[in-house]
Amino acid sequence: MTEVRDTTSSGKALFATREYAVGDIILQEDKPLAVLSRSSFNTTTNDPFTAIAQAYQQNSNQLDIEGKLLSLYHPQSDTTNPAEQTLWKNSQSAAQNDNRLHKVIMVACCNSFQGGYVYEQASRINHSCQPNALVNIQDDTGALLVRALTPIAVNEEIVISYAGLYLYADTRARQHVLRRDKYFDCSCVRCQAAVDPANTIPCTSCHPRHQSQLDEATQYDDDDEHPVNYMIWKSDQLICESCGHVETSQSSVVNVIHSISDKVLQFFEQYKQQDPNSKTLSEQDDNETQDEEEEQLESLLQEHLSLASSVLGARHWTTNLLLLLYLDRGLKQYNRKLIFQQTADDDMQLDLAEHIDHLQKITQFVKRLQLHLHPGHLLSDVIVGIARALVSLGDVKSAQYATRWLDHLNGYEPFLSEALVKVVDSLKNAWKRMEDDEPARKKVKG
Ligand SMILES: [Zn+2]
Ligand SMILES: [Zn+2]
Repeated sequence: MTEVRDTTSSGKALFATREYAVGDIILQEDKPLAVLSRSSFNTTTNDPFTAIAQAYQQNSNQLDIEGKLLSLYHPQSDTTNPAEQTLWKNSQSAAQNDNRLHKVIMVACCNSFQGGYVYEQASRINHSCQPNALVNIQDDTGALLVRALTPIAVNEEIVISYAGLYLYADTRARQHVLRRDKYFDCSCVRCQAAVDPANTIPCTSCHPRHQSQLDEATQYDDDDEHPVNYMIWKSDQLICESCGHVETSQSSVVNVIHSISDKVLQFFEQYKQQDPNSKTLSEQDDNETQDEEEEQLESLLQEHLSLASSVLGARHWTTNLLLLLYLDRGLKQYNRKLIFQQTADDDMQLDLAEHIDHLQKITQFVKRLQLHLHPGHLLSDVIVGIARALVSLGDVKSAQYATRWLDHLNGYEPFLSEALVKVVDSLKNAWKRMEDDEPARKKVKG
């Protein structure tokens, strides 16, 4: 039960007219109003705005949907917001002097979900970097479900995240990405908070660098006897709470943080474009080129990860998001190897230990962000991946350890696909099946 209301700051928005508990369905739309993306139709262009125009013109029910589409948010010609001005200008030529088409293109840019899906109701839900709801879209049908991620009170605005993985990034990076991809300046609670836990580095005074590099114990922050002191942002300054050292926003240290952050953001974009999973069939290269690209991408990932961790340390968002990417790749490779080898050799077991160490680091980072979000939100895939790898080792102890990781997903079941819930259940019970089998196996041996 929701209602569209006008707001003073963010146009029309969706509000709850009843209370919701975590996992409750807030909104359901069986199909999108339109699908306006490059891959949805036979578009013949690389210009994203022209692609949207072409996709729109291939809709047979244009007359029915145009009014509804145009009622969704889009910038006006006299907008003073620089991001909106850019969108207005860049999309103009694709509309070829058709004003209504120009507006449709901008509606798609401001309101569509991944895959170009635009919805009558759900497209009115605003973004927050501290979301209280989650959108799930079924790939084949475009059916949409919005569920409560946190308890929601009557008259509270329903907000979702448009930031994807960048939800775990610092305020500067999130705002950059939202401005670039969604054409607005975020002013949510998290963006206005004085403290930004995603952008914290080991104190430059307590832990002096050698040629800008942290020593290893500081870098990995794993020496319990000598804990690392971190500097945190407080209104435009980095301050060490332990020694009181201050770096102003003009200091060279802050410049270094920004330049590494920008490099990592750039790398993420490159990664998204080169990831074979994101390419359409016609874009896919032959196997050999693909292998080469894969190797290049992997070594670039390692380079960026070691730059981030050795200069900005274990608690910075760049280190942790790169680590998450690295872990995700590592687990996929692990599972591919397992298919060929059936059992994990010593090398693979070492890899797995490293993967687990990385997941531990990432979950600690996410906890520190205090997002009021379930850790499953962006980590469910890697958590299940770790559990699957542990169970594959074939012994009761490892399988029991797998259930401990899967416990991190308790309470997140409504947000997992039915198939994944089944996988989780089966992995959770694997150690019991192994224990039941144990006496039988011994008997055979004896
Ligand atoms: Zn925000
Ligand atoms: Zn200090």
